[in-house]
Amino acid sequence: MKGLAVYPGTFDPVTNGHLDILQRGLEIFDRMIVGVAYSHRKNPLFTAEERVEMLRNVTREYQGVEIEAFEGLVINFVRSRNAEVIIRGLRAVSDFEYELQMALMNRKLAGNIKTVFMMPSAEYSFLSSSIVKEIFSLGKSVSCFVPDYVEQQLHTKFPHTR
Ligand code: ADP
Repeated sequence: MKGLAVYPGTFDPVTNGHLDILQRGLEIFDRMIVGVAYSHRKNPLFTAEERVEMLRNVTREYQGVEIEAFEGLVINFVRSRNAEVIIRGLRAVSDFEYELQMALMNRKLAGNIKTVFMMPSAEYSFLSSSIVKEIFSLGKSVSCFVPDYVEQQLHTKFPHTR
């Protein structure tokens, strides 16, 4: 299918699970904009600029992908890019309630914008940026869960792991 979709998130940092969803999205849409939310409330480990830079680095070989930071409501960002589709990943039942609430609220706020959910490969169903940061900070390698470049950047935030 032709078209543009926005994949919003915090990406603190990007994991192989996020990349799995991005690749699946590219099988449906010919352009995807990854929207990196500032997410001040989540107090991210990496700045938005660092998260954008990591995503650009690890998606260099992908065709049709753009990475941009955004502030504020997802629907405003989606509209500003003339898109009508939001892609979100659904890992487990635990994601469902929050994602349903967000999707229905976004539909209320912007009726033409549609949310498309995609399931990652089973091996990434338990993976989150938070768990990656937690196990890495405790001295374990996360090389199965994030690209090498991201693991290198994690060392800069947790110098004791070098
Ligand atoms: P947010 O703050 O918006 O939840 P995240 O970076 O945690 O930002 O997640 C962005 C999107 O990617 C969400 O739809 C989330 O469900 C999805 N996602 C995160 N990790 C994975 C994963 N391992 N597999 C599939 N989807 C994922």
